[in-house]
Amino acid sequence: MITVEEAFRAVESTVTSLPQETIGLDEAVGRTLAGEVRSDVDSPPHDKSVMDGFAVRAADIAAGITEFRVLETIIAGGLPTSEVTEGTTSRIMTGAPLPEGADAVVMIEMSNLEYSDPTPETVILNVDGNFTAGKHQMQRAGNFASGDLIFEANHRIRPVDIGLLAEVGASEIMVVAQPSIAVLPTGDELVDCSRTPAASQIRNSNGPMLRAIANQWVPEVKDLGIATDQRQDLEAKIRSGLKHDVLILSGGVSAGTMDLVPEVLASQGVKTIFHKVKVKPGKPIFFGVADRGEGQRCYVFGLPGNPVSSLVGMHLFVSTAVRKMTGVLQDAARPVRLGAILSAAHQTRGNRPTYWPGRRCNHADPRLVEALPWNGSSDLLSLRQAEGLIYFPVRESAYESGAEVEFLPF
Ligand code: AMP
Ligand code: MG
Repeated sequence: MITVEEAFRAVESTVTSLPQETIGLDEAVGRTLAGEVRSDVDSPPHDKSVMDGFAVRAADIAAGITEFRVLETIIAGGLPTSEVTEGTTSRIMTGAPLPEGADAVVMIEMSNLEYSDPTPETVILNVDGNFTAGKHQMQRAGNFASGDLIFEANHRIRPVDIGLLAEVGASEIMVVAQPSIAVLPTGDELVDCSRTPAASQIRNSNGPMLRAIANQWVPEVKDLGIATDQRQDLEAKIRSGLKHDVLILSGGVSAGTMDLVPEVLASQGVKTIFHKVKVKPGKPIFFGVADRGEGQRCYVFGLPGNPVSSLVGMHLFVSTAVRKMTGVLQDAARPVRLGAILSAAHQTRGNRPTYWPGRRCNHADPRLVEALPWNGSSDLLSLRQAEGLIYFPVRESAYESGAEVEFLPF
């Protein structure tokens, strides 16, 4: 049986990035840049005022001049027409281009004028403090210049990046394509969650959960319904699932007599990369790949049926695969792991490294995490409070309060 680390490496070395496509900026959040982005403008495009006030020569202020002749008013979006010379000034608004000759701006608060006053022929400027060339103005290209590198390839676009992309004219951008993802829960005992289960049945909780998680990565996730543990039905549904870039199954991957998923996958051309990982919960997890022709592949995950097992497999390995497909580079593709400290002693069960539902328990110290009461892989109730998974690497062991652990936030 392989280790978690080996499983991560197997996913990372198997899964490759999808081709690129062009999208509009409004659809860009969460996508990964396929190439670098450079600016087509200087920012700012001209020397500009960062205050409402008067554009002057700093030398005039230094020489003690206080009364200035006003040449014009320059608004943001307008262009100056006159050069500022000795003893003259132009009224200027925030964002407006600095006129020729001027090298600084005096705030309107230091004049004898109110904001709402019309522009007079002369103005008194009483400048206090240290006033030198460059005051209250920004130089052309002070932020960046046309041609400068703004984002490197493989940057994952966040909402805060959108303003900068808009500023540099990236209204259409090349990003890595998104995978199509299909979810197929399997099991004779499953009924849709809208139904009342009969005596031997349970509701399909994995299907909606796995689709919801996948929906955080891609806007549409294909619901393949529920497959029974009958070979024909399983085969047909798996065949349609294999048309996608990612097929996520749940159930049917362990050693029971009805656990047909691995052999049906094999019969449909899916090559096994791994089956079973030394992890708790979720040991029977399956990962394989099928060729769909024309260079396209389907990555197949068979997650164990118990809901928390499915969740752990999804959070660790499926998410890594999807991030890798969408262009995220090696190290960043794995789920985030934070250094954390146990708030109370904890005893793990079983003989495998364990991912245990947990939460941060102290806002003053976000490093403190608490292992929640949990009945094991079928117990979704404790997830109500969980904010992530606490990783306990040592098998069957007592962890003391204050022990250093890793926390994987959802
Ligand atoms: P399996 O991996 O098929 O052996 O299933 C392991 C356990 O998970 C069994 O108790 C199943 O009833 C349960 N299970 C399987 N699929 C689902 C599902 N979609 N939703 C909730 N529980 C499930
Ligand atoms: Mg089953």
